[in-house]
Amino acid sequence: MRTVREGTDNAQSIGAVPVNETLAKARAAAAEMLVHLVGERHPLWRVVITDSESPTGIAPVCTAHDEFDLHDEIPIEGHGLARDEQGVYDCCPDPQMETGSPLTAAYLVELLNADLPVESGDAA
Ligand SMILES: [Zn+2]
Repeated sequence: MRTVREGTDNAQSIGAVPVNETLAKARAAAAEMLVHLVGERHPLWRVVITDSESPTGIAPVCTAHDEFDLHDEIPIEGHGLARDEQGVYDCCPDPQMETGSPLTAAYLVELLNADLPVESGDAA
């Protein structure tokens, strides 16, 4: 199978290697790391508020339950009190990363969640 279009000088498509091989390797390596940090290969990601007062961080969604769930309940405008989903607590899994930008954090969360395998029972 040849993936290179004849006559192009695009460095990413030189040779018979699919363009996304590097991405596939990085995705697989990250999945192995995440098994150890989060307990699953493909966690759902969320925007978090780390040291700043702004939603500029990203982290896997915290799935702590019962006595292991340390999240505060905070007032949500128009909804009373609700679990603080953007806070980072001792129960929250790593990696937690600061991006320095709300837009960057939101973008990375969308990218990571869009890259999750489709639920089909035996997804990669
Ligand atoms: Zn947590």
